[in-house]
Amino acid sequence: MQTVLVIEDNRSIMMVNERVLTKAGYHVLGAADGEQALLVARDNIPDLILLDMMLPKLGGEEVLRSLKQNPATAPIPVIVVTSLSQKNEEKLRDEGAAAFLDKNNLFNNPEFLLQAVGKILAKNKAIAKLPVLT
Ligand code: MN
Repeated sequence: MQTVLVIEDNRSIMMVNERVLTKAGYHVLGAADGEQALLVARDNIPDLILLDMMLPKLGGEEVLRSLKQNPATAPIPVIVVTSLSQKNEEKLRDEGAAAFLDKNNLFNNPEFLLQAVGKILAKNKAIAKLPVLT
């Protein structure tokens, strides 16, 4: 079973995402602020992270940076979930974001979330299977 860490401070969004992902067969972990998110990520090394940008204690950008600076959590793909404009997208991609999800789309259509998660996990699996060159 693959584990997804949902980092989200809005309880209703967290509940919806958790339900959708659990129903689809994922093991779901949650964190409601940036500091907790880093602890849960380091302790559990999930297969994928969904990262909200507006978070208490430590913002999404800082969380992304910390995850990518730690060799243990750096390989975990991070999907940035935001309702903000996409002006930051390029910067966040440079900092290691694997994909972006518009929070508004997500709320209207849970299929959106499953598609994005499935796609990124499949991509990561393909990378992990690449033969090691000696
Ligand atoms: Mn938020």
